[in-house]
Amino acid sequence: MAPRKKAHGAKAGDGKRPSAREQLTEYRRKRDFSRTKEPEGGGDKSAKGGKLAFVIQKHAATRLHYDLRLELDGVMKSWAVPRGPSPDPADKRLAVQVEDHPMEYNTFEGTIPKGEYGGGTVLLWDRGWYEHEEKGGPDAIREGLRRGDLKVAFHGKRIQGGYVLVRTRGYGDGGQPSWLLIKHRDKHAVAGGELTETHVTSIATGRTMEEIGGSDTSRVWHSRPRDQAAQKDWTGALLPRKSKSIADVRRERAAAEARGRAGTGGTGGDDA
Ligand code: MN
Repeated sequence: MAPRKKAHGAKAGDGKRPSAREQLTEYRRKRDFSRTKEPEGGGDKSAKGGKLAFVIQKHAATRLHYDLRLELDGVMKSWAVPRGPSPDPADKRLAVQVEDHPMEYNTFEGTIPKGEYGGGTVLLWDRGWYEHEEKGGPDAIREGLRRGDLKVAFHGKRIQGGYVLVRTRGYGDGGQPSWLLIKHRDKHAVAGGELTETHVTSIATGRTMEEIGGSDTSRVWHSRPRDQAAQKDWTGALLPRKSKSIADVRRERAAAEARGRAGTGGTGGDDA
């Protein structure tokens, strides 16, 4: 966790932001690239035309979720959104912030081996570019992330218009910050509407989850009892529940790091 803390600790405006490679330390630590086809990353490829890329990947890991990734400073800032984005401003969708991902992840579609971190099928659900909703540029995006109040406008095929990401006081079961993803009231808002049930195929290949090689249900992946416990934790995180104390989170982080050093891996982070 120390490297991630360092990456997140760099203040906007201090003139010395961490490199993409530094920001991806935790991403690399969690993966065995001899076993997964996921990219190692480290490139600083920017989106075409100076626009910031976004991607949403449907991921049937321990628990089905949608990974929202926003380009910033050479990496993809990432959130796991269990229910995916909604076009209805009345919906508040939990979005658990996970480790920064490499830009190269934006084209990843396929299957992460069972038993590996995040094992399961990944489908490219939507992609395009995004901007600060009030045209504040990258500085306003950095500031929004820091303050826990990030307003963005999506220019995708399926997700359009303004949304806000608001950080809550809660944490995911791995101690990650929890946010809420909420649609703004604009011409793209649809009261009572939904997106994830309408769009179930890959934006890139037109394939379904089954065709990519996995299953749309989570039970195929990880049948060990300790993973079911992790899944239950994650589901619990969907509901408003009492926040963990800082001491609890620190204890869990220390335990997770101890497991990481022992090379046995944790159970809590399988969903990222
Ligand atoms: Mn994921």
